[in-house]
Order: sequence, then C-alpha cells, then structure tokens
Amino acid sequence: MEPIYLDHNATTPIDPGVIDAMAETARRFWANPSSGHPPGLAAREELAKRRSVIARFIGAKPEEIIFTSGGTESDNLAVFGAARANQNKGRHLLISSIEHHAVLESCKVLSGQGFDVSHLPVDRDGRVDPDDVKKELRKDTVLVSVMHANNEVGTVQPIAEIGRLVRERGVLFHTDAAQSVGKLPIHVDELCVDLLTCSSHKIYGPKGVGFLYVRAGTNLSPLSYGGAQEGGFRSGTENLPGIAGLANALETAEKGMQKEGSLLAQLRDALFEALSRSLDGIDLNGHMTSRLPGTLSLSVQGVKSSDLITLLSQKGVFVSASAACTTASIHPSHVLSAMGISPSRAAGTLRISLGRSTRKEDLPYIADVLSSSVKQMRRRPS
Ligand SMILES: *Cc1c(COP(=O)(O)O)cnc(C)c1O
Repeated sequence: MEPIYLDHNATTPIDPGVIDAMAETARRFWANPSSGHPPGLAAREELAKRRSVIARFIGAKPEEIIFTSGGTESDNLAVFGAARANQNKGRHLLISSIEHHAVLESCKVLSGQGFDVSHLPVDRDGRVDPDDVKKELRKDTVLVSVMHANNEVGTVQPIAEIGRLVRERGVLFHTDAAQSVGKLPIHVDELCVDLLTCSSHKIYGPKGVGFLYVRAGTNLSPLSYGGAQEGGFRSGTENLPGIAGLANALETAEKGMQKEGSLLAQLRDALFEALSRSLDGIDLNGHMTSRLPGTLSLSVQGVKSSDLITLLSQKGVFVSASAACTTASIHPSHVLSAMGISPSRAAGTLRISLGRSTRKEDLPYIADVLSSSVKQMRRRPS
C-alpha cells in the first residue's frame, strides 16, 4: 500500500505542471527583471504577465500584488506595515484569537512597542461574530485582521460582512487567505478587504513564495529596504520561477476549484461518517457547513494525538495534530482553546486534511486504519 498523505493544510505536493512552469521560467527568464537590457526586459515582461494572471484571479489590479517569500512574510508585512504607517492615527489593533502565528506573534511584538492589541472571541464552531468586531472597534483602531479560513479546523469566517463594517469606520482590514485561495472563490472587492495574504505552497505551488494584496492607496510601511522593487513595499530581486509556479498553480486551481471542492467535501464527510460508525467518543471540530472542503478536525477521546499520529504514520497514513508548526509544542492549540474546547479533548485532536491525491478508493482503508489504531490505543493506554 502506498503511503497516504492527509496533511494538505500543512503543505501540498507540487503540481507537475507547476514544476514545468518553474523550470522553463528559470531557464528562459534568468535575468534580473530590473535590468534595462533585452534579457532583463524579457524577465520584466514575464513577471508582468504572471502578476496579471494572479491579480485577475482575486479581482485585483496587477500593481496591487506584492510578491513575498510566502504567507508568513505577507502576514508580517500586513500587520507591521499597517500598524507602523498609521500609528499617528492610533495604536490599536484588533485581531481574532484564532489567527495563524504569523499574525499573532507580529501583534505580540507590536504590543511590546506601545500598540494595544485586542483579541476577538470565536464561538464553539470557531466563528467570529461581526457584532463583536463592531463592539471592539475603537477610535484609535488602525487595523483589523481576521483570517479567511482557519488552518486547524477549517472554519470559514464571514469576511465580507466584517469587511463592510470595518470599512464603514475607515479602518484597514486584513485577511489571511493562505488556506482559502484556490479553494474558495475570492474577490477582494466582494470580501471588502484592503490586505490579503496568499501562500503558494498550500495550493500545489512551490514553497517560499506568496503575495500580499495591497489595495491601491493603502497606507503601508515596507518591512525591507533596498532596490524598491514591488512598488517599494518589498525590496529584493523577485523570485521569478517561484512566481511563475504560483501563477500556474492558481490557473490550475481556478479550472478545477468547484469540482475539486465538492469532491473533497464529499470524501471528507464520507470519512467522518465511516469513523462515526466504527468508533464512539469522536467529536468534530469546526463549523459544520462553513468549512474548508478538505479539512476534518476530530477529537478522539481516550487517546493522545501525538501517539496516534505516530501509530498512523507507521501504518502509512500521514496526518497531523493541530497545525504543523505547533506539532513540537506541548501546549494545547490556541485555536481549540479559543473555541472553548477543553484541554483534555484538545489533547486527542487529529487534523485530517484531504487534497488532490486523496482517492475515493482509499477511503475504506483510511477509515479502517484510523479506527483500528484508535481501538488499539484505547486498549493499551500509554
Ligand atoms: C501556512 C500558513 C501561513 C504561513 O505561510 P508560509 O508560506 O508557510 O509562510 C500563514 N497563514 C495560514 C493560515 C497558513 O495556513
């Protein structure tokens, strides 16, 4: 049996078409896009072409796409950039309590530099209530950041609704869409966002590249200084092969998004049903309907997730506990605790994230391995 990869929220395998696009771009457009000679011009044109494809995908203008090294840098640029550029207006930041660490930690640093950070609560399903945003907005609020879809439990936030009321108050609005770009339809005007984070490697593109959408006219300070590439927001020679890979990944995602989404949701729900039939004491985390199609977060009573993951891995099924970046830490996930999930329930949580490689034929095997492993562990508790 081939190993089965069910950790697509941590990263996705690179699409073969993406690898081809990257290789060809690296070979043909090796010059510096800022150079004035013909090879430089060719690279510049190629960069512009790829930027347009990406911009069109989210309903943006090409000059509103700022290429970065990925989701983490985009989040940092959004948070630090908006906070620093607007600190004369105020020093209050409002973020959800289930943000990715790239947002949370950036805000933590800023709170040590005289900024005041408020955390929005979420309900049991991991949703932010737009009314809470309204209540927490202050005269000195300069940025609101609420992620589009959560990487641990998959809950999708009412971004458009939040965006409209944040805009009414004249405050900048950022959403981390690293988990939703390429999976859900995204249009920056419909979502009413000023800043939007995208990471390439969550959508079958290469690692180390992404972008921050920055609405025209947004007051934002750069993080890095130098040659003033990317409209001055992000100096440094552009990673053109990576950008070509990202553009190619988005084109492929666009073509298959709806079909892929409904298939994944179907497989995910079938897997949950199969597990519910064979096991007791399992609870689903996240919103029942407003959720990423491929994400299944389960809390399994009576097992420790790190042990279960090891056992599953020995049997060739690869899943994760909560988020990939926190696997090594012993603290319960901040997402699960914000959702009001007890530490004991959180301790037995598995994140199963399906993707393009997940096949319907494999479901019975996956369900079987999962339930037999849980039963095995429950018989011999560690
Ligand atoms: C993966 C991820 C990031 C970080 O992106 P990198 O490209 O790995 O730096 C940020 N936010 C969310 C929601 C993510 O899932």
